[in-house]
Amino acid sequence: MTASMDKIVSLAKRRGFIYPGSEIYGGLSGTWDYGPLGVELKNNIKNLWWRMFVQDRDDMCGLDAAILMNARAWEASGHVNGFSDPLVECKKCKRRFRADQVEGKCPECDGSFGDVRQFNMMFKTQTGATEDESSVTYLRPETAGGIFVNFKNVIDSFHPKLPFGIAQIGKAFRNEIAPRDFIFRSREFEQMEIEYFVRPGEWEAAFEEWRKNVHAFNDAVGILAQAVHELEVGDTDRAHYSRRTIDFEFDFPFGRKELYGLAYRTDFDLAAHSGVSGVPLKMIDAEGEEPVMPHVVEPSFGVDRTVLALLTSAYTEDDLGGEMRAYLKFNKAVAPIKAAVFPLLKNKPELVAKAREVYSMLKKQVPQIMWDDNGNIGKRYRRQDEIGTPYCVTVDFDTLGEKTELKDTVTIRNRDTGEQERVSIESLLSRIA
Ligand code: ATP
Repeated sequence: MTASMDKIVSLAKRRGFIYPGSEIYGGLSGTWDYGPLGVELKNNIKNLWWRMFVQDRDDMCGLDAAILMNARAWEASGHVNGFSDPLVECKKCKRRFRADQVEGKCPECDGSFGDVRQFNMMFKTQTGATEDESSVTYLRPETAGGIFVNFKNVIDSFHPKLPFGIAQIGKAFRNEIAPRDFIFRSREFEQMEIEYFVRPGEWEAAFEEWRKNVHAFNDAVGILAQAVHELEVGDTDRAHYSRRTIDFEFDFPFGRKELYGLAYRTDFDLAAHSGVSGVPLKMIDAEGEEPVMPHVVEPSFGVDRTVLALLTSAYTEDDLGGEMRAYLKFNKAVAPIKAAVFPLLKNKPELVAKAREVYSMLKKQVPQIMWDDNGNIGKRYRRQDEIGTPYCVTVDFDTLGEKTELKDTVTIRNRDTGEQERVSIESLLSRIA
């Protein structure tokens, strides 16, 4: 991999993938805004995940729960008491750090630290017009909570049999003490989570299946397999609800860090929500059997970390025809733009009209098509390479019939090889789609 963080962050900003949050006001630490290409990329990732894990399977269904939830849900899940990181404050400069990320002295001013205390990472807010303890709510720190509180609703509507899963994609919020490394650790991010419900005692097979599925998803989006490593998380490092966890780590430019997690959550959550809400969260799995409380295997994917791993995997530098170039080697499924269409010259109305026609024809079938008539062809190729567009289509005088045998053909250029081919307009769609 040739990617460095500087190169990725600057390309992402320059080309409209990711901007610093609230930038014109000096930013807001731990927030990032996805630009026109970033939102397409992110949607492609989420759609691929949803297709693979929800729509293409018979044992899964989706959900989109509210971000604000009754505070009791987070008391039951253990987050109000236990979702915290150890915090230390420098006695001299008052800067705050995560205690497990600093040693001895303050890295900023060499001052000494006060006592370590636990800092709860949930964002607290208030619902309604009264500002007292009864109106306190939290922005969800993980999407999983919404799935557990809807367990009974889904059972009552669909009567699924075990094993089955509920999936959700959505925002999660954590007041990280030290947001860092671009979109890797932010305070507002997106998760794609699955709670996969199994009969008690049958979690191991599901755990194995989801372990494989995580790798299958990485392959499908285009995350480099050799940069992904499994880490068995030790007893003392696991989250409070987990009996077994594997972290899938990725070789980011700043080191090997968690990309996704896979956890066996036992019946911790259903039991806790049952206890606190008073609503039994059991289901009848087989005729004539007693109701059971399923156990849960949870693969948890971060959308933003997927984006970063993908940018890192796709970033490539090479020498094309004696010229250095940097480009994003996205696969077709995730590329934010599938093809760009150009008229050879922008001041020839007949070329522009024909190119517009080709553009509209393609765009009707494949929405992620871009029109580009700025600068010369070489510049347009570079620009499209940099944003990872697999194909560039050029309409020239031959397309118009200057050479009769080439009428209604265009050139199509391949991003990775730089090679151009003459093909019929008719055949374009099957190439690009
Ligand atoms: P870390 O140890 O890096 O803080 P975590 O173990 O707390 O992560 P989980 O609670 O397992 O993370 O969250 C599931 C997934 O959500 C992570 O694997 C990651 O992809 C994503 N995620 C968690 N925290 C953040 C964050 N602050 N910014 C971006 N993505 C995050």
